[in-house]
Amino acid sequence: MSVCTRVWGLDSVRILLSSSVAPRLFGKKSSVEGGWIFQLNRICSYSTSQEQAPRHSMLRHLTSKIKATGPISVAEYMREVLTNPVMGYYVKNDMLGADGDFITSPEISQIFGELMGIWCISEWMAAGKPKDLQLVEFGPGRGSLASDILRVFTQLGTVLAGAAISVHLVEVSPKLSQVQAQCLTGDQSQVSASEDEPAYRTGTTTTGLPISWYRRINDVPKGFSIFVAHEFFDALPVHKFQRTEKGWREVMVDIESDGVDKLRFVLLPSPSLASVALMQVDEKRQHVEVCPEGGIVIQQLANRIVEHGGAALIADYGHDGTKTDTLRGFQGHKLHDVLTDPGAADLTADVDFSYLRRIAGDMVACRGPVSQRDFLKNMGIDTRLQVLLRSCADAPARTQLIRGYEMLVNPQKMGERFQFLALLNHRRLATPEEGEGMTRRRGMAPLPVAGFSELGLK
Ligand code: SAH
Repeated sequence: MSVCTRVWGLDSVRILLSSSVAPRLFGKKSSVEGGWIFQLNRICSYSTSQEQAPRHSMLRHLTSKIKATGPISVAEYMREVLTNPVMGYYVKNDMLGADGDFITSPEISQIFGELMGIWCISEWMAAGKPKDLQLVEFGPGRGSLASDILRVFTQLGTVLAGAAISVHLVEVSPKLSQVQAQCLTGDQSQVSASEDEPAYRTGTTTTGLPISWYRRINDVPKGFSIFVAHEFFDALPVHKFQRTEKGWREVMVDIESDGVDKLRFVLLPSPSLASVALMQVDEKRQHVEVCPEGGIVIQQLANRIVEHGGAALIADYGHDGTKTDTLRGFQGHKLHDVLTDPGAADLTADVDFSYLRRIAGDMVACRGPVSQRDFLKNMGIDTRLQVLLRSCADAPARTQLIRGYEMLVNPQKMGERFQFLALLNHRRLATPEEGEGMTRRRGMAPLPVAGFSELGLK
């Protein structure tokens, strides 16, 4: 990276952080949740009407399956409940926001997505500004995060000048893909004519970029990519294991023994394939959750980053291999019993970042996990908040900005529970004597990875 580019990098961040435009509309609707009043303030329009999921048919579907083949693993239960192609919770619902079951950081504050947008640009610059830049998001929800990232791309258009940018969304839910398309393209998207197409929907963003939707990462075109995943890994199915006197046993989902179509957890009497394959010999905990699907996604990401360049930023609530029983349900912003009324509530398990790092192995360099508070502070959230407040005279909007900030960084709220992990190409961190791109970086240490160390913006 040349001196010039390095200065550009910080300048770009400063320009964005100090941009006086507060582009979101504020207003409309407020709701009280856990003592925290927030206002839905997305520019994107979306429907708040929820399709009633055929919940009883989900329970019927699960009980017939169990009657036919015996107890199912918790992972299979989660997969069916969340992503069954006909009646899965994610497939049928728009569950985010005040009227839904949970709210996420990009829905709370525009600053969250803006800072992630800066991160994407800074990693693209650190890679030597490759001509093609694919922004790939996993589980984009309502499209709010992508929308905020793309607004930053537009505001920093001079920095990105010459880059051929395209947007790629990996989304299992046709219902949410519609909401995302409305948010990101207006009505400039269409469903693919053939099931055989890798992308099931394509279009053009309101900022003029090509955008496509896929069911899985393997369908995303290969090329230099910045991957982002926010509250995606926690939605992937986990296996649960319990330590017993006879060794590790897998927790399964069965039907109540009294003949009522009600579900319960049981322990398998002997080891399962999963307990043999997934448990670590030196495990100390009594109860463990493992998410092999998360591991597969990490492997695919790492392969892509090694072969085609790029970086991944994964943000989620989680732990470093210390927590035990974290699977839970959420409905209407309240805890909901995991086995009651399946399909009516979100199911989620804390992400085990130590497992993700272990799977990534040496293929890529990992940074973090660091807490959301540290990441956002390192990215300059305080500066950005002050700039937005200076340009905002509307009292409710100012309150909203401050409450959003507080929610994101307060350690008692989302500041410590949420963690950020980056996967990077080893070349990105190579010293001048190592790896390719030597001439580009001769005489200079590699650029610091934004968010994982202070940018020194003050
Ligand atoms: N990232 C968004 C939404 C989080 S909710 C935000 O932070 O606001 C989880 C998202 O992941 C939803 O969009 C859901 O439909 C999607 N999702 C869940 N399981 C998935 C899977 N197996 N493959 C692709 N998308 C999935």
